Amino acid sequence: MGDPLSLGLGAIGATANAFKLVQAFNDVRDATKVQALKFELMGLLLEAQQTQAALVAEKRDLAERVRQLETWEGEKQRYQLTNVGWGATAFVLKPEAQGSEAAHMLCANCFQHGHPSILQYDRKDMRGAYACPKCKSGIMTNADTLRELNLLPPLRQD
Ligand SMILES: [Zn+2]
Repeated sequence: MGDPLSLGLGAIGATANAFKLVQAFNDVRDATKVQALKFELMGLLLEAQQTQAALVAEKRDLAERVRQLETWEGEKQRYQLTNVGWGATAFVLKPEAQGSEAAHMLCANCFQHGHPSILQYDRKDMRGAYACPKCKSGIMTNADTLRELNLLPPLRQD
């Protein structure tokens, strides 16, 4: 699939050529020439049809991307860029937006690119390490900071 401008220009060009060919039919009396013009016309119409289908698909993809971005614009208001310890930052779900959801934090890298990804505790790594399952980046957090942010349960008082 090409870019929308090239597709649009291609469709206009194919359609314009088709109209020129239809006009040429009026001037042609030779049956062989008429047959050749018909083949050429069919080719141009097929090209225009394919270009139109590509434009429709492109429009559908762009509409879906706009819908995703509009949804994401509202969703991202629920998070705040927060220092989660040792200078590492993540987008933490605001307490007032939590509702019944588990407290969590989103990867700052993926957040900036409009693809929210919940950071997961990385048990393969050192204690306090979290990793993004999408972009594979990792951050080192501070347990006390995570407790203050209600991302970890409080220490037991035994
Ligand atoms: Zn990520």
